[in-house]
Formats: sequence, C-alpha cells, structure tokens
Amino acid sequence: MREMWINGASRAGASGQTIPVQDPATEEIIDHVPAGNAEDVRAAVDAASAAFREWRRLAAGERAEMLHEVAAKLTAKTEELATLLTREGGKPLVENRDEMGWSAACFRYYAELGRNTRGRVIPSIEPSQLALVLKEPYGVVGAIVPWNYPILLMAWKVAPALAAGNTVVTKPSEMTPLSTLALAEVFEHLPPGVVNIVTGYGKEAGEPLVLDPRVRVIAFTGSLETGRHIARIAADQIKKLHLELGGKDAFIVAEDADLEIAVPGVAWAALLNAGQVCTSTERVYVHEGIAPRFIERIVEYARGLRLGSGLNPETDVGPMIGAQYRVKVEAHVEDARSRGARILAGGQRPAGQPRGFFYEPTVLTDVDHSMRIMREETFGPTIPIMTYRHFDEAIQLANDSPFGLGANLYTHDARKVKQFYEEVQAGTLWVNDPLTDNDAGPFGGMKLSGNGRELGEEGLDEFRETKHLHWDFEGGAKSWWYPYGRNG
Ligand code: NAD
Repeated sequence: MREMWINGASRAGASGQTIPVQDPATEEIIDHVPAGNAEDVRAAVDAASAAFREWRRLAAGERAEMLHEVAAKLTAKTEELATLLTREGGKPLVENRDEMGWSAACFRYYAELGRNTRGRVIPSIEPSQLALVLKEPYGVVGAIVPWNYPILLMAWKVAPALAAGNTVVTKPSEMTPLSTLALAEVFEHLPPGVVNIVTGYGKEAGEPLVLDPRVRVIAFTGSLETGRHIARIAADQIKKLHLELGGKDAFIVAEDADLEIAVPGVAWAALLNAGQVCTSTERVYVHEGIAPRFIERIVEYARGLRLGSGLNPETDVGPMIGAQYRVKVEAHVEDARSRGARILAGGQRPAGQPRGFFYEPTVLTDVDHSMRIMREETFGPTIPIMTYRHFDEAIQLANDSPFGLGANLYTHDARKVKQFYEEVQAGTLWVNDPLTDNDAGPFGGMKLSGNGRELGEEGLDEFRETKHLHWDFEGGAKSWWYPYGRNG
C-alpha cells in the first residue's frame, strides 16, 4: 500500500482506514490507499503553511530550476506512471504516455513563466511618489483533482501555483490515487511541505481542505454538483475559487468539411478516453447536405473500433471508470431511444467482455434537445447527431446548453469561422483541430462549466494576488488633508 506525502515524508492515514483501488478493465482490486480525514488534511495544511514563507522568498530563478527538475523526473517516470494510470483509470497506455508528456511540458512552461513573472510600474499622482502593481502568492493552495486526467489536471494547478510562490496540498480522486502518490519522488527535491498529497474521499478529505481558513485558494476540477457544493461551503470564507466543471461540447460540421478528416476527427473528439474528457464532443450538428454520407462513415468507423484493456496495444477504446458512470450513459441512451432516437452503432455493453466497465462506441441519430443525451453531461462513448440547414441554426443549437466549456467546427469558410468565434459561448474554440491543448493558451469554461482559467498567463494569475503600492519618498503633509485643505 502506498502512503500519503506530507511535509516531505510518507505518512499512513490518521484513521488507519483504507480505500480500495479498482482496475476498471478487470474489476480487480489492485491496491489500497489511506482514507485521509480532517486530521491528515490539518497536518498537510500545517506543513504547507510552515513552508510558504521560505518558498515565496526564494528567487524566482531558483524555483524555476526546481520546477524543471520536477519535469525531468516526470519524463523519466513516464512508463511507470503511464502504466499505473492505465491500471487505475483504464485509458489506453498510449494516451497516458501523452498525459505524462503534457504534464512535464506544463511544469517546464510554468518554470519559465514564473521566472519572468512581473507586476507593473504605473504613473503616480505626485512626482515624489512611486506606484507599483505587485503580484504576490496567496499562500496555501488546495488542488482537488478528478479521475480522468489525474496527473495532467494536477500539473495544471500545482505547476502555476508553485511558480507563483504558493505551497500546495493536492487531493487526487479516490478512484485514481495511485499515480498521484507515486509522484512523491518527483517532488522529493522540493523543501518539505511545499507539495503535500492527501488521499481520501471527497467528503472526508476534500471538504476539510475547502473549509480550512489557511487554504486561501481552492483550484477544483470535477463535476458540476461537487463544484456547486464547494462554492456553497466556501462562501462564508469568501475563499478564492477556481472551478473547472462539466461540459456538453458541440461539434459543428459545415457542408464544405472534408469527410476523410471530419469523420475520424469527430470520432476522436467524442471517444477519446471513452468519452470521459471534460471537452468531449457530446453533440454533433452536421449540415443536412452531407449528413447521410457523414453518418454512414462515422457508423462504420465506430463499429470498427476495438474495445479492450488499455494495456493491450491493439485497444482503441478502454473501459469507463466505474459502474455508476456506465449506468448514467445507459440511462441517457435509453431515454433517447424511448423518445424516438435511432441507434446506428453500439448502444450496449460489449457481449464478449463480461468483466470491466466497457460500453460500445454508440452513434445516435434523430435526437433533439428534449433528450437527456443532448442536455446533460453524458461522459461516455456516445456520438448523438442532429442535422441543420442554415449555419445560424447550428450556432443557436450549439449555444442552447447550460454549459460552455469548448466547441468545435470543421470548415474552411472564413465567414463561418468568424461567426463561430464571435457568437459561440464557450471558453475554448477549435476550428479544424479538435481538442488540442496549448500550455500558452488559457483553458476554462463559461456558464455552468465554471470560472477562472488554467494554463497560459491567465493560469498563473489565478494563483497571484494583486497589490497596489503607493510610496511617497518625501512623506510630507499633503495639501488635501483635513484641516490643511480647508485652511489653505
Ligand atoms: P467529482 O466532482 O466527483 O470529483 C472530483 C474531485 O472532487 C475528487 O477528488 C473528489 O474526491 C472531490 N470531491 C468530491 N466531493 C467533494 C467535496 N464535498 N468536497 C471537496 N472535494 C470533493 O468529479 P469526477 O467524477 O472525479 O470527475 C468527472 C467530472 O469532472 C466531469 O463532470 C467532468 O466534466 C469534470 N472535468 C472537468 C474538467 C474541466 O477542465 N472543466 C476536466 C476534467 C473533468
């Protein structure tokens, strides 16, 4: 059993209780981790608070060197961690190698951005004064991470938080804690307490982190329900919250789209990680002129994908993370079917795989916005397709959602692109390039998909307070002070 990482040392949980970790491809229990509680969180926040003063005082260049070392260690552990990620999370190994590469790149990016971080000198109101806008770390940051990209979404929070001079307590999902605990070695060269890892359930270990007044920022990625709950319980403390929540991303395929590219592009955007990506394509709008050919090809494509364990190099689509997540997908498909949708591929558990939380890549047509599959986050391997006649209509359909995380478009028509980027309500827009991330570009949601941005300069600013300094070198009495102003 792996232990938690607090104040630069391994630590068993205070309660002695443990959480089983299951391989979603086999349903086997592969390990146990400590079920952390409020006492463990308190110890981690004690350590992070004590480490903060020295960490923030370090020269930015010294912190940058240490973050580069984190990146180098992540790269060296790619194979070990990618395998662990597949075992606990189900994603195919090749996708987890990518996750490791992107995570290391994120630490390198923020190492350099942190080294170059700066405030501003602004015009002062008197010649004898200096006025500065200063960017300062908050203190202790709580980073709460979901199961679908455990290392990457940790990196998106921890790298900028550390680069800005904060210390961190991070809590991975109870479903995928093993890969995060294996990171202790990656952080070993940092001063004790700068990074702490607490495992546990949301209620027992996540909530005490949110409620501790010494934790000045909560950076959270997860479901809308948990995000709302966190916002409610943090309200009394007016705590700075950064929430990356669910999505219901639209993909518009215009009539000029090249189907050789659009079909695998849409399938990839919808089925990557078995559809369990916050920016998974969950609604497809295809122009009616190309819809019959598009649908025929995507059905054929989906039927040809191979389901299996992510450890098998032949696998295209791995299992879903757990039983209750698959039940939700089944409920959405059933709701659509009962209201008149046609299921042209998939729509069931694969017959040959009795163990593991697999679900066949599923293509649905004749769907509409009254169905759960077009309104709620499905988070599974589904491709529901609607057709449209005018581009305006496609834009309106894309915006007809309470979520606003990402949106995609295939076209080479510049007028459509302009309308798309001006009118679609989503934090990330992809044109002819579905679902790519760029460390330099901010990522985050509008509407119910959350607030704040990760990555880019905006991602560093989430972890920096702004201070305004007025400094008068002479310090004389001012003409406008009472009673001088009145007398003069
Ligand atoms: P979840 O909300 O169940 O859990 C996320 C994390 O919050 C876990 O670590 C969990 O233990 C913790 N948690 C649960 N209850 C808590 C509480 N009361 N207080 C504090 N912490 C608590 O989400 P999940 O099922 O792990 O992840 C899937 C969800 O994440 C999907 O909705 C998906 O869209 C979303 N997601 C969003 C993004 C994004 O960037 N917007 C990225 C990935 C995933």
